Amino acid sequence: MISEIKYKKQICEIGKRIYEKGLVAANDGNISIRLGDNEFLITPTGVSKGFMTPEMILKIDGQGNVLDGDYRPTSEMKMHLLVYQERRDVQAIVHVHPPYATAFAIAGIPLDQAIMPEAVVYVGTIPIAEYGTPSTEEVPNAVKKFVHHHQGVLLENHGALTWGKDLEHAYYLMESLEFTAKINWISKQLNGDRDLSKKHVQTLVKMKSKMGIEGNTPLGADTSEGIHAKKITPPLESSLSENDLNMIVDRVTKNVLDEFKKLF
Ligand SMILES: [Zn+2]
Repeated sequence: MISEIKYKKQICEIGKRIYEKGLVAANDGNISIRLGDNEFLITPTGVSKGFMTPEMILKIDGQGNVLDGDYRPTSEMKMHLLVYQERRDVQAIVHVHPPYATAFAIAGIPLDQAIMPEAVVYVGTIPIAEYGTPSTEEVPNAVKKFVHHHQGVLLENHGALTWGKDLEHAYYLMESLEFTAKINWISKQLNGDRDLSKKHVQTLVKMKSKMGIEGNTPLGADTSEGIHAKKITPPLESSLSENDLNMIVDRVTKNVLDEFKKLF
């Protein structure tokens, strides 16, 4: 199947990028793509994601049975399958251990501080899913409550997970998430992580509808200018209403103030 080979190559290409960008070390991380209702491509365990070849990629079903491939699938596949199960619109998932975002996950600080327009509009708030023992049902269970209203989560004391409408989208969300965490950290060293005002955040949220994205979307969208303009596709549709958005804006503002009080 031509598209299957194409997707396997794309997984290898993204694997190279996550490895070279230092989002993972050694054999860490995993990537998957939805092929159909009950068929998925997923990366193997015990292999560096920077040096994969297409024949290493496995085909599995929704229960995690291997349909095709000689390697063993990642032990973290349950959290991938949970996201696909809960979100029929999700086509690809990236899981890595990005240093800055993971440090936030370890410190117990969610990425919900409205400090940069791109982060507010494109990535949205990234909550922390409570710690689960790797490879057990605890991990998907912890992710489950966030999967419908976010584009990714931090995994407590572990790493980060993003999902998207295609693999490039999921990858760019991860890149932006880590970038936001990094800037957030650096600005804290300068004692200067001043948040955007509630009014500014609301303006950004409203911009999304003007960008031709109909219906309800998460706190994330393509901007017509800026660093993501050319490569990023619009976010997935989700069930956020105007009320939900206002609630999130209120919560972001409150969290910013709370975190600020804690830190200084
Ligand atoms: Zn992991």
